[in-house]
Amino acid sequence: MKSVKHWINGAARDGDSRTAELFNPATGEVSGHVALASAADVDEAVAAAAAAFPEWRDASLTRRTQVLFRFRELMYAHRDELAALISAEHGKVHSDALGEVARGLEVVEFACGIPHLLKGGFSEGVSTRVDSYSIRQPLGVVAGITPFNFPAMVPMWMFPVAIACGNAFVLKPSEKDPSASLLMARLWQEAGLPDGVFNVVQGDKAAVDRLLEHPDVRAVSFVGSTPIARYVYETGTAHGKRVQALGGAKNHMLVLPDADLDLVADSAVSAGFGSAGERCMAISVVLAVEPIGDELVQKIVERVDKLVLGPGDDPKSEMGPLVTAAHRDKVASYLDLGVEEGAKLVVDGREAAVLGGGRAGETSGFWLGATVLDHVPVGSRTHTEEIFGPVLSVVRVGSYEEGLKVINDGLYGNGTAIFTNDGGAARRFQNEVEVGMVGINVPIPVPMAYYSFGGWKSSLFGDTHVHGTEGVHFYTRGKVVTSRWLDPSHGGVNLGFPTNK
Ligand code: NAD
Repeated sequence: MKSVKHWINGAARDGDSRTAELFNPATGEVSGHVALASAADVDEAVAAAAAAFPEWRDASLTRRTQVLFRFRELMYAHRDELAALISAEHGKVHSDALGEVARGLEVVEFACGIPHLLKGGFSEGVSTRVDSYSIRQPLGVVAGITPFNFPAMVPMWMFPVAIACGNAFVLKPSEKDPSASLLMARLWQEAGLPDGVFNVVQGDKAAVDRLLEHPDVRAVSFVGSTPIARYVYETGTAHGKRVQALGGAKNHMLVLPDADLDLVADSAVSAGFGSAGERCMAISVVLAVEPIGDELVQKIVERVDKLVLGPGDDPKSEMGPLVTAAHRDKVASYLDLGVEEGAKLVVDGREAAVLGGGRAGETSGFWLGATVLDHVPVGSRTHTEEIFGPVLSVVRVGSYEEGLKVINDGLYGNGTAIFTNDGGAARRFQNEVEVGMVGINVPIPVPMAYYSFGGWKSSLFGDTHVHGTEGVHFYTRGKVVTSRWLDPSHGGVNLGFPTNK
């Protein structure tokens, strides 16, 4: 039985007596416990970060980058260990966990370029013998609150940039898969980051609420479901903090009749069922522009039938279990609901075979196989609600315009994709669709680290996306200096508004 603790000021800490159970999603067994921070535990972590901040803020860019480079190398060397921790608590297959570590490391690599990213502007001679220049400075203590589905990558969207900018960081990971955060904390220490610059408080709402109201926390980055994102944004900003809060998603793939249907079917199955659909960029709705619907569904089903469902640590497994029993039950409830709402259940994931076990609906563990619902009615709950599991809905539409309207009428605006061989249609789509991240014949258009990640509408509260130059902007504040060194033209007192001469 493992016991997952906090990490405060460079050491593991027990904290308050409250704990939560951790599970092995593949078996359903309890695998350990995680500490749940009290307000006092959070205060201790914030105090450690506040104490560490002045030295780190003043660390030279060279020193900061050297630590980042070492952290990158250590993370790369420990990627298998990290992936195994993720897989054991989240359930995703090992190769997928390795993928999330790799995508997170791209942000560390981006942050290694911080000397270039923090360069300001300089204007010589804005007035006679007066110069002006801009600098960006760190905020102080900043916090990250992250979801269960990417326990390494999503924190890495935030802390490499925040720390590179000179801030001290407090991470509050998901209480469902907290172990990755502690390994990353140890690797930061090994890389030479001063104690207190990176802290982890494990916990639930109590920890989040304290971070949101703590006067020494200057900014909060959040990723999770839309209701909590909205709450975090409203509460954090009411307490005077900068907040970027990324929420849920319902991503549509619009398929025009001229598309290559084999590519579309491969893409829909990969993007719909990778990580058992527990990705905010998963494709959950295929919008098939008729007359291709029947042929496309047939191609999707052929592929789904071959998917291998099994434990994350079995190299033969392509798709693992869901994260908790409650989440599995919620996702599975949409199968009956979909049928009640008029959809056709083409592949029933409850019937899928699990490697080394029986059928998904009968074995222990939090299993549900890949599910396909066809003819899902537009506007039904199955169509509009975020299911966040291995359920792919096919919606039939009559035209590009109809499909576009379905997407733009949606609550969320995280990711979307169009599949077509018509460049003009694709260009029109990228212009007209009200979504933050768009793929053209690419099903999961996750931006590279040097662009910024974020959706529109109820998929993001705040105006700054994460990582890339927007991340640098979020974790720094600007200052403009106007300087004049004494010279013979000093002209005495002048109460007029400063104008340039
Ligand atoms: P969640 O909203 O339940 O939890 C996210 C974080 O908020 C966790 O750290 C959790 O402990 C905390 N939290 C939960 N309930 C809270 C409450 N009542 N008050 C304060 N804090 C609370 O999300 P999840 O189930 O862990 O993750 C899945 C969700 O995250 C999905 O909706 C998914 O779309 C979304 N997500 C979005 C993105 C994105 O980039 N937009 C990326 C990954 C995941």
